[in-house]
Order: sequence, then structure tokens, then C-alpha cells
Amino acid sequence: AKSQGKNEYVVYTADLLNNSIEKLKLEIDLRKAIKNNELVLHYQPQVCIKTKKIVGVEALVRWQHPTLGLIYPNKFIELAEETGLITEIGEWVIEEACIQNKKWQESGIPSLQIAVNLSTQQFLKLNLVDFVKNILVKTKLNPKYLVLEITESMAMDYNYSINVLQELKKLGVCISIDDFGTGYSSLNYLKKFPLDYLKIDQSFVRDISLDENNVNIIKAIITLAHNLNLKVIAEGVETKEQLDILQKYNCDEIQGYLFSKPLSASHFERTLPKLLTE
Ligand code: C2E
Ligand code: CA
Ligand code: CA
Ligand code: CA
Repeated sequence: AKSQGKNEYVVYTADLLNNSIEKLKLEIDLRKAIKNNELVLHYQPQVCIKTKKIVGVEALVRWQHPTLGLIYPNKFIELAEETGLITEIGEWVIEEACIQNKKWQESGIPSLQIAVNLSTQQFLKLNLVDFVKNILVKTKLNPKYLVLEITESMAMDYNYSINVLQELKKLGVCISIDDFGTGYSSLNYLKKFPLDYLKIDQSFVRDISLDENNVNIIKAIITLAHNLNLKVIAEGVETKEQLDILQKYNCDEIQGYLFSKPLSASHFERTLPKLLTE
């Protein structure tokens, strides 16, 4: 940049500088947020398509900012990934989700599976398996009620991934492939990885009624998953029409606004009696 003219330099730094100051502020705030317990989890019900009963929840992180209000992950997860803060956040998420799930079980409600999202950095961190193991011991949560959601991109380093997943499976937790159909990876991993669930990405669900090809894709994904002994969850289900099509092709579970938005723990507890009898 030094070899360029002075004016040129000034022109393109104005924006860049603004941008990086904004980012830096956000980064400092985010570091504080972790320390000050400003992160919260919201829980979105996952419902059995046959019985319409709630069988699990996905834990989704939010940032309760002291002045800006509730901030959604699309505003800070990317920055958290760039700065490495994501591993700390991710570890907090796993622990908080296990504590909360154990609390619910002790309150006497039917046991639910709780799903958490793993970031790539978290997945690649060498202590992941030990970390999960320790949290399970500490919280006394039965491992089968914890589901780790990974994405297709984590299948890229095949040998590494299969190793980690097998170690995680040995702990007794469940593994789910999130956003299925949006990654670039080959399907080879599907038959080798120790998976339990496949989540159809919401983009397929959203367009389900637009034309027959979308229905055919959904149908094919469900058949593929069932042939591999995986349960299928469709996410982003917003309409009765989408539900009907998913039901017709034997999708196992649904998650989406049709049934419930992600809810705070207390809101979830207040809504639960209704969800359990629906
Ligand atoms: P995701 O894992 O694919 O989560 C599903 C997203 O879809 C959530 O957005 C959820 O609120 C939203 N959603 C659920 N039902 C519907 C629906 O019917 N219609 C529509 N339009 N949207 C629906 P959210 O909570 O804003 O999270 C966005 C993304 O942020 C997540 O996508 C996930 O990739 C990431 N994320 C959230 N929590 C965590 C976390 O704890 N760790 C990591 N690494 N990533 C997280
Ligand atoms: Ca997810
Ligand atoms: Ca997803
Ligand atoms: Ca997604």
C-alpha cells in the first residue's frame, strides 16, 4: 500500500478504518460479554412428526447486550470465529446446555435431547473429546441426551474427523449433520461416519412447494438417510403445507416456526405443558 499515491491510500482507508474500529469495539464487548455472563441460550423444540410430541430442543446462542438488546448469532458468530473467541463461547454453550437439560430432567418433565452447534474450530481443538467427557461427568447428564451438530465442511479432513467422531460416539453422545445438502463435500463420509441424525437444510424446506423438483430432493434425502439408518430432522418448517409434504415422505422430526420459535429457558418452561399435550 505504501507504494501507492497518498490520496489513494486515504480514500480506501476511511471505510476500512471505520469498519475495523467497529469490529474492534464489538470484539472488546464480546470478550466482556463472555466474562459478564451476557450470553444466553434459547431453545427451539424439535417435534416428532408422528406423535407431534416434543422430543428435543436445539440450543441457540444469543447475546444479551446491556445497551443494544438481544443480538442474534449472525451478528457475532463470524467475528467470534475470526478472533478465536468461538472456542470459549462454544465450550460455554456445551456446559450451559448440559446443565439446563439436567435441570429439566430433574424437574420431572419427559427427558429431551439437547442439540448444540459445534464450530469448526471447536471441532478441530485437540481437547474436544475430553472437554465433552468432563462436562458430562460434571453435570451428570446421560450422554444420550446430548446431540452434537456438525456440518459437512467438518468432513473435509476425513481421517481426522472420523477419529474424533468415533471418540465422541464412545462417550455415548449423538451426532447430527447440520445444514445437509449445502456443503461441498462428497457423500462418502455419510456411510463411514458414526452419525445419528441428518438435518435437512431450511433452504430445501422453504422451497418445497415451489416445484416438483424440490419435493423430489426432499424425498431423496429422506430415503438416503433412512437407508443409512439415520433419523431425519427438517428445519425451518413454517407452514402446514411443508409439514404435510414432510409427513408424506416419512421425515422423522421437524423444527421450525410452525411449531415454535427458539425460546428462553423460562419461556420454554411456561410453554412446555402445552407442547407436551399438543
Ligand atoms: P442453524 O444451526 O442452522 O440454526 C437454525 C437457525 O434457523 C436458527 O437461527 C433458528 O432460529 C432459525 N430458524 C428456526 N426455525 C426457523 C423457521 O421456521 N424459519 C426461519 N426462517 N428460521 C428458523 P439463529 O438462532 O439465528 O442461528 C443462526 C445460526 O447461528 C445457526 O444456524 C448456527 O449456524 C449459528 N449458531 C447458533 N448458535 C450457535 C452456537 O452456540 N455455536 C455455534 N458455533 N453456532 C451457533
Ligand atoms: Ca444447527
Ligand atoms: Ca441448520
Ligand atoms: Ca445454518
